[in-house]
Amino acid sequence: MKKQVAIIGGGVSGLASGLKLLEAGFAVTLFARELPPNTTSDVAAAFWYPDGAEPAARVRQWAMVSRAEFLRLTAVPHSGVSLKPAIDLFAKPIAPPDWLDMMEAWEAVSYPPNLYGYRTIVPAIDTPTYMPYLLNQFQSKGGQIVQRQVANLAELAAQFALVVNCTGVWAGELVGDTAVTPIRGQIIRASKPAGLPDEIVHLDAEVYSTYIVPRRSDVILGGSKHRGSWELTPDPELAEDIWRRCLALQPALKDAEILEHRVGLRPGRTEVRLELETLANGKAIIHNYGHGSIGHTLAWGCAAEVVALAKNSR
Ligand SMILES: Cc1cc2nc3c(=O)[nH]c(=O)nc-3n(C[C@H](O)[C@H](O)[C@H](O)COP(=O)(O)OP(=O)(O)OC[C@H]3O[C@@H](n4cnc5c(N)ncnc54)[C@H](O)[C@@H]3O)c2cc1C
Repeated sequence: MKKQVAIIGGGVSGLASGLKLLEAGFAVTLFARELPPNTTSDVAAAFWYPDGAEPAARVRQWAMVSRAEFLRLTAVPHSGVSLKPAIDLFAKPIAPPDWLDMMEAWEAVSYPPNLYGYRTIVPAIDTPTYMPYLLNQFQSKGGQIVQRQVANLAELAAQFALVVNCTGVWAGELVGDTAVTPIRGQIIRASKPAGLPDEIVHLDAEVYSTYIVPRRSDVILGGSKHRGSWELTPDPELAEDIWRRCLALQPALKDAEILEHRVGLRPGRTEVRLELETLANGKAIIHNYGHGSIGHTLAWGCAAEVVALAKNSR
């Protein structure tokens, strides 16, 4: 008999964990209040960027495992994963960021009007293609989906041998974890104008980080990182500011047409929580949440660790 596992969460953490558990021989039922295209993971830009979450050594390891999976997915039709040049920009010349050690090749660049940075090649994820692809893969490998709110973990722990908690920013209320906080991100989805280079441009900042992420049939313009805000309605003033910042980085965007404004709540936490908890009644819960700004980057590495923990649980 296959071991029965319940996953809570239909974003990238839940779906990647679910897929890997199915491949490892578990029977998986996924419970989610929201499914693609309505999760935070669908709003993400989303490119591989192994910086900005803790603990650093584990983040690095998860990102490496994910990158290998993304490289495999570039050869899979309709996965939505490709490789793209990406430029990480800074206001003044700085030493190469540590994470560039992980890359096969990179080069220092200057960027008009007076910015400096590093160009490398990273996995780029077209979420309108990738998220439905993950959902479809999960179901075609035998995963069951139940779309509903889960009020408490004990409810599922009574029915399943193992529960995996992938509830993103809502893990805070589900398990009473006060270390979880939303990091609100607003983006513009725009048409791709002729002359827009097919490369990711990223100028990080504490709050007003700016990025331009061309995708298959549109371009994502960002962004913002407002800690503690649960506001899901797009802010028109912030949208204007994002537009202005992106246009300053890439004048070809003047011919872009705004298609949509979206907001997502990144699951901020002092560090990613990926661990096995054994309840008083002996039931096991694996927590996999708190990936902050880089949940796509970490998803496959974390999923591999979820499987290892699941195999070791009673
Ligand atoms: C604007 C923006 C840009 C980003 N860019 C990048 C990027 O370039 N690269 C990158 O790696 N990451 C990026 N991220 C971060 C990334 O999107 C997140 O880290 C990631 O989506 C978190 O995934 P998750 O599956 O843990 O959570 P979510 O996608 O939020 O999924 C949580 C799931 O749990 C469900 N759920 C929650 N509570 C319950 C409950 N009680 N009962 C039932 N279901 C429940 C929800 O309905 C949902 O299905 C970006 C995020 C934003 C907002």
